[in-house]
Amino acid sequence: MVVRSSRLSLALLVVLGTAAGLCAAQDYDFFYLVLQWPGSYCDTKQSCCYPKSGKPAADFGIHGLWPNSNDGTYPLNCDPGTEFDPSRVSDLLSSLRAHWPVLACPSNDGVRYWGHEWEKHGTCAADVFDEHNYLQAALRLRGQLDVLGALTAAGVNPDGGYYTLGQIKDAVRQGTGFEPYVECNRDESGNSQLLHVYFCVDAAGSSIMECPVVPSGRGCGNRIEFPAF
Ligand code: 5GP
Repeated sequence: MVVRSSRLSLALLVVLGTAAGLCAAQDYDFFYLVLQWPGSYCDTKQSCCYPKSGKPAADFGIHGLWPNSNDGTYPLNCDPGTEFDPSRVSDLLSSLRAHWPVLACPSNDGVRYWGHEWEKHGTCAADVFDEHNYLQAALRLRGQLDVLGALTAAGVNPDGGYYTLGQIKDAVRQGTGFEPYVECNRDESGNSQLLHVYFCVDAAGSSIMECPVVPSGRGCGNRIEFPAF
C-alpha cells in the first residue's frame, strides 16, 4: 500500500514536472515588431487622442513586439498573474513617450498601453525578456528601422496621396534592408490607408530578419493612402 502510494506520488510528480516544463518552454519561433503610422490611427471614424505629453512626432511609432510561431499561431497573455510595474521602466519613459506614443482615447500617459503590450505579448517571451528588457528591445529594434526615411527617399510621402503596395514595400526594403508586411485600415471615407508595417525579429529578440511567415489578414488593395499627421 505504502509502495503503491509513493509510486503514485512519483508518477504525479513526473506529470506535473513535465507540464511545468512544457509551460515554461518557448512557444514561439520569432517576433513581429509592429510599427504604426499615427496619421492612419487618427484618420478614422473613431479618431484618436494625443497623449498627455502632447502631439507625437510625425513618425512611425511602436505598436508592439509580438512572439509568433512559424505555423502562424501565437501565444497570448501567458502570465495572467503578472502586473506591469511602471517603476521598473522609469529610465525608459522619455524614449517610450517619443517612440511608442499612445493614441487611444481618452488622452493618457501611455503606461496602460505599454503594460497591455507587456502583459498580452511580452509575458509569452518571459524566457528572454522581463518587462524592462521587453520595452527596451522594442525601442532598440525600432531605432534600426527608419521606415519614414525609407519611404520619403522613394517619394512615398505622408501627404494624403495614394501609392501602390509594391511602391511601399520596395521603398521600405530598399531603405531598411527588410521586406515588410503592410497592414491597412480605413479612413473616414472608407479608403485603405497605411497603418502598420511588420518586421520580424529572431527568437532571442535581438536581430531583425526576413519574415518566415506573414500574418493572414485582409489585404490593403493596391491603392493605399498615406495620410499626413
Ligand atoms: P493589441 O491588443 O493589438 O496588442 O493592442 C491594441 C490595444 O492597445 C487596444 O486595446 C488599443 O485600444 C490599445 N491602444 C492604446 N493606444 C494605442 C495606439 O496608439 N495604437 C494602437 N494600435 N492601440 C492602442
